[in-house]
Amino acid sequence: FILGVARERADGERRLALTPETCKKLVAAGAQVRVERDAGTGIGVTDEAFAEAGAQLVGDANAALGDADVVLCVQPPSAEAIAAMKQGAVLVGSLQPESDPARAEALRARGIVAFPLEKLPRTTRAQAMDVLSSQAGMAGYKAMLIAAQLAPRFFPMLTTAAGTIRPSKVLVVGAGVAGLQAIATAKRLGAQVEGFDVRPETREQIESLGGKFLDLGVSAAGEGGYARQLTDEERAEQQRRLGEHLKNVDVIVCTAAVPGRPAPKIVSAAMVAGMKPGSTIVDLAAETGGNCELTKPGETINANGVTIAGPLNLASMGAFHASEMYARNAFNFVSLLLKDGALAFDWDDELLAKTVWPPRPQPETAAA
Ligand code: NAD
Repeated sequence: FILGVARERADGERRLALTPETCKKLVAAGAQVRVERDAGTGIGVTDEAFAEAGAQLVGDANAALGDADVVLCVQPPSAEAIAAMKQGAVLVGSLQPESDPARAEALRARGIVAFPLEKLPRTTRAQAMDVLSSQAGMAGYKAMLIAAQLAPRFFPMLTTAAGTIRPSKVLVVGAGVAGLQAIATAKRLGAQVEGFDVRPETREQIESLGGKFLDLGVSAAGEGGYARQLTDEERAEQQRRLGEHLKNVDVIVCTAAVPGRPAPKIVSAAMVAGMKPGSTIVDLAAETGGNCELTKPGETINANGVTIAGPLNLASMGAFHASEMYARNAFNFVSLLLKDGALAFDWDDELLAKTVWPPRPQPETAAA
């Protein structure tokens, strides 16, 4: 089978869903790999490196995608990319098919068998393919480094000839994959770190990283290991306790999310007004609207002396390692689609059946 990878064309996207490492593995698994020239520029991988890994380098996206049975990508494909793909091809990546009706229509019209990796069930077996986790790890790491960069203070405690410097007090809002990596990063930089989440099991995870669990008296574990939305009463209680606490925090990194919904608003304008001037907020949830009421996605603003940054696509900032992980995730998923070097779909495998888009009719539904 032919596997194609075009250069990522979305603004600011430096990652790629293929590395020389996974290219070699795909060739060994029976693929003819076609890569568009310069596709690896954002991760410092030359065309020669891909050629050495067994890829055929081609001049443009049409040549990379036109005959491909399988296409790998990071960002959702453009209309041109979909038009370049052959009828019935397999597409694997962060596709968000529902987020753009025109894209959904184009994919359907071309009969593309799409596997949006963000839809993978979050089971133990799926972890090796879980791009949400691998990319969130990089995003959490970068968010904390941006906070350290913007803050007008040291993170660690220092004993100097000019006296003692107190360590920064850092709070991480939301302790999923990104939040835990942010906590670990702040801890390594020597800050005093606290984290909170509505899922009670995060207490132990935060503590195991050397952080302190901030108990706001709200617990809201939902389905599939994710959080559910809070009730109005729960939210009010969380808000009251948090507002009090933030008066003493130097740095906040926000990472809270509820799947398929805008980011929960957790840090209100009134809370920001109560914070010390010189405090810093980095809102990794900016992509879905932000956890802070004042966040402007893609911008860094100053609100009464509090710096609030809403950086976008943080994973792309760490494109090299983010791509290394993404490409392995994608390779592991493609491996599920292969039998003896050829494409073969085992629809009894829930990782395929639950991820494929358009969704397959469920057996129960079909019978009804
Ligand atoms: P996410 O990005 O959807 O959310 C980030 C965090 O925000 C979550 O921990 C969530 O509980 C928290 N949150 C939501 N609303 C909040 C609120 N109002 N206040 C405070 N916190 C709030 O989640 P994620 O990081 O992608 O994954 C969440 C969890 O899913 C992981 O920590 C893990 O336990 C589980 N998971 C399991 C697997 C697996 O087994 N394959 C893989 C990935 C994640």
